[in-house]
Amino acid sequence: MNVKNFLIHFNMDTKQNLKKYLQEIEKNDKKGKKINAFLQVKPVENTKKGKLTGKIIAVKSNINVKGLNCSCASKTLENYQSPYDASVIKRIKDEGGIIIGMTNMDEFACGWSGETSAFGPTRNPVKIDLVSGGSSSGSAAAVAAGFCDMALGSDTGGSIRVPSSHCGVVGVKPTYSTVSRYGLIDMCMSFDQIGPIAKNVSDAALLLSVIQGKDDCDAISQESKIIDLKKIEEPPKKIKIGLLDFPVKDKRIQDIIDKIIDEAKKKYKWKIEKVKIPYLDLAIATYYPIVYVEFFSSTRRFDGRKYGKKIEDVCGPEVLRRILGGSEITKAEYKGRHYNQALKVRTLLQKEFEKVFKKFDCIVSPTVPKFPHKIGDKISSEEMFQYDALTCPINIVGNCAISIPIGEIKGIPIGMQIACDRFQDELMLRIARGIEGLGGDREKRVMREEKALK
Ligand code: GLN
Repeated sequence: MNVKNFLIHFNMDTKQNLKKYLQEIEKNDKKGKKINAFLQVKPVENTKKGKLTGKIIAVKSNINVKGLNCSCASKTLENYQSPYDASVIKRIKDEGGIIIGMTNMDEFACGWSGETSAFGPTRNPVKIDLVSGGSSSGSAAAVAAGFCDMALGSDTGGSIRVPSSHCGVVGVKPTYSTVSRYGLIDMCMSFDQIGPIAKNVSDAALLLSVIQGKDDCDAISQESKIIDLKKIEEPPKKIKIGLLDFPVKDKRIQDIIDKIIDEAKKKYKWKIEKVKIPYLDLAIATYYPIVYVEFFSSTRRFDGRKYGKKIEDVCGPEVLRRILGGSEITKAEYKGRHYNQALKVRTLLQKEFEKVFKKFDCIVSPTVPKFPHKIGDKISSEEMFQYDALTCPINIVGNCAISIPIGEIKGIPIGMQIACDRFQDELMLRIARGIEGLGGDREKRVMREEKALK
């Protein structure tokens, strides 16, 4: 990569910022720490000015950016060049943001750890031998590694929040339908949502405020309350937090959550109460049949005639499993039995969440109830499914949720998920902003936690 050649098209302020990031990428993405966060680095010239002027933004490889390679980290679309901008990209460009390149991900967003990419796994910049979490592995790792200011990911069952949690950054899954999906290569249309990944809550709120809003190109998109960036800085008063009662296997993870929530209670006088959500244990069994069916249907266009190669000929085992599973579930002889059953449980869960949000302003839990595994380690499917046990319920019901870093255990970042009711994204960001600074600064926190472990 020739950094100088890349820079000639940009103005002075942007140039400095871009140069810093390109040098860091050059040093540690394919060489040095070999993070492998990017599949393509190719800054896109933009002379517009706005809320994102000078901000350098990385984009997950399933979101179309005109002229860049939207491969979904698959051999299927290895050479596919986007002929147009997704609506979120148009909005970013209109506000002066600079797209720096396309990030690595699980193949077609099917995965938990970032390891199903056809172009190698993404390393976790904080703990280099561990997985970064998936499927928006490269986007979260790029922010954590200091390769960009912010990034876009997509979240179908946890793909923004899981890698954000493991890489120690902030990731938001907005309320379903509040961010246009036009130009996103879908994985499961009724759950997919594009969202921001950033170094802190304020930056995530800024990017979300740019990409949110109704879009005529996405039939299900809806107008939502525009996020007031000043308000994000004020912690809400008199709220009631539901602390999720869930059997987290490793007690140390739940302990950090409890400690921070206790601090929030003292500082802001928020009310805290434990909450159990009925049928939460059915979330995974509900999520996958729906994903398999919708994924099977959405991949039928990759038959090797119009876009790239025939998917079944070149994809990895996880993608193939979903295609075969989806084709089996949809067989006429089953008369939609499994799919309809899943939809029924989905409605059941929606009702339970509605009840919970009548009583509480938000639900707090670990983002991921387990630690990330070592790259290459073989783990069981049951263990793999645990990655999004607490994130996929939010997609099933269509609400919003954020993951924020709140501490580390043996140097591994731990994320807290804060979930709110539909269209309460602003309230969610305000709560997250209030909690963000708790637990002391990072160095003191790490020392304290390490001491506690001895
Ligand atoms: N891990 C989940 C899955 O494999 C979620 C993926 C995602 O959110 N894109 O389906």
